[in-house]
Amino acid sequence: MVRPAHQTPMNHASSESDVLVIGGGPAGASIARLLALRGWHVVVVSRAIDGQRGLAETLPPSTRKVLAAVGLLEAVEQASAFRSIGNAVWWGSDDGRLEDFAGHDDRPGLQVWRPELDRLLQVEAVRAGVEWITGNVIGVELETSPVRVRVTRPDGSTLDRHASFVVDATGRTGVVARSARRTAGAPRTHAWIGLWTCPSKTTLAADVRTLVETTDEGWIWSVPAAPGTRCVAVMVDPDRTRFAADGRLERRYLGELSRSRHVRALLDDAHLQWVWGCDASLYETLTLGSRRHLVVGDAASFIDPLSSFGVKKALTSAWMGAAVVQTWLTDPAVGPAAQQLFDTREREAWTTSLRRSAGYAREALPAHDTPFWQVRCELDRAVPPQPAADPVPVPVPRIAQAFERLRHKDAVARRPDTRVWFEPQPAFERDRVVLAPALRSSALDAPVRIVDNVNLARLVALVRERRKVGDLFAGYCAQEVPVPLPAFLRALSVLVAGQVLEPVDG
Ligand SMILES: Cc1cc2nc3c(=O)[nH]c(=O)nc-3n(C[C@H](O)[C@H](O)[C@H](O)COP(=O)(O)OP(=O)(O)OC[C@H]3O[C@@H](n4cnc5c(N)ncnc54)[C@H](O)[C@@H]3O)c2cc1C
Repeated sequence: MVRPAHQTPMNHASSESDVLVIGGGPAGASIARLLALRGWHVVVVSRAIDGQRGLAETLPPSTRKVLAAVGLLEAVEQASAFRSIGNAVWWGSDDGRLEDFAGHDDRPGLQVWRPELDRLLQVEAVRAGVEWITGNVIGVELETSPVRVRVTRPDGSTLDRHASFVVDATGRTGVVARSARRTAGAPRTHAWIGLWTCPSKTTLAADVRTLVETTDEGWIWSVPAAPGTRCVAVMVDPDRTRFAADGRLERRYLGELSRSRHVRALLDDAHLQWVWGCDASLYETLTLGSRRHLVVGDAASFIDPLSSFGVKKALTSAWMGAAVVQTWLTDPAVGPAAQQLFDTREREAWTTSLRRSAGYAREALPAHDTPFWQVRCELDRAVPPQPAADPVPVPVPRIAQAFERLRHKDAVARRPDTRVWFEPQPAFERDRVVLAPALRSSALDAPVRIVDNVNLARLVALVRERRKVGDLFAGYCAQEVPVPLPAFLRALSVLVAGQVLEPVDG
């Protein structure tokens, strides 16, 4: 293997790799692929894909951006059975509404059959140079250096593999993560999933929308899997539903499904092929990494499947995780800061999901005032308020005033009376985490690095004395990733409000 020149080759005993990824779902296969493309010797150990536990999943249009970032958009588009144009929803109401996926460059979402998607991700990882081992990891010794991972192979034999760094991408299993899990008081949820086919072959998938319907005891959703085939899942609290006592899963499933009015009607001529069930309760993992390991994807947290953001979150986690692993392996001094950045982003994803889930429940409650929905309304009780998308340590009215002052001048200049300095802050940059300068001034309460995608330190560096705003905008866009003018003006207003710059006549 040709290793990038900046990396120091490590000696590999035959069983030793740079990185060993446990779990080959979307998170594991993607992080493994990204690291292999960067020249690391990467091994994935994953259980075999189980087609009998197949699930059709919806990837909303915004997943495309993440798929492109991990280099898999084209392949996944080809593997997607259907484009997803949106949802048909009976949420706390018998009046259905159509929710179209609009506004994402008019690109639709994707409906994927998960066993197919996982197979494709495996092929792409192997193509990138990943060594793929089918097996079940039964032990991870993080204290040893290199880390020792014990694997049971499908033929019953055991195998020890060693790696400098281990990634836990085992989803709910959380082979490393499990000991640091908490549910944040979330109630239990089970998914009972049925695969239905229709003799007419087309009826069930005639409309490729995802269908969602609430009942008193949970919700029901359906995603087309293939022409004439749909997955129909019921989501219930196994501690509450009266059907839980019914011995066979199929009976419980059909009992729960009988509560549905709208999705059920679609299945009149359809045949149930098989039913399986899985835990879908929410959790988060409190410790996401160390010098030798990282927890990514569902292993880090499981968010409400109702959002359809699970795969997107897993891919984002893989993309960020690849940068964190790269940092630990090439620049360990920055490793702790990289880990902290990863933890913050993962926690934001988790708290955002709790707020969203509580919002869904509050919407359903007027029609279904039952314990199932009542407890879910409380999910965001302990969650801090939503932070601003772009936290800026300047009050909004001061930014607005600064913008007004800017509008009446055509240039800006540095303020000689304000002390300006830069503080290192971790940031994702290309394939790693770096300590990038964040701006501080005696008038700013906290460091600020980016406003509306504008890098403030780099913008300030362009204003040595006085500069016309138009020239500054052109100069910034020529040197950095171009930004729209309104974003640039907002960033400039923050600098004026933070007393770093002063509007002047040009
Ligand atoms: C009912 C339901 C419906 C969902 N619907 C959607 C949807 O419509 N859209 C969406 O985006 N998301 C959906 N999700 C969420 C989505 O499935 C997950 O977020 C996504 O699969 C997470 O990917 P991952 O790679 O982190 O974990 P996983 O996909 O769980 O992958 C984990 C991998 O680790 C392997 N593994 C586990 N333990 C071991 C071990 N000990 N040794 C070796 N290998 C191991 C597993 O075999 C698997 O390959 C849904 C989830 C559920 C439960």
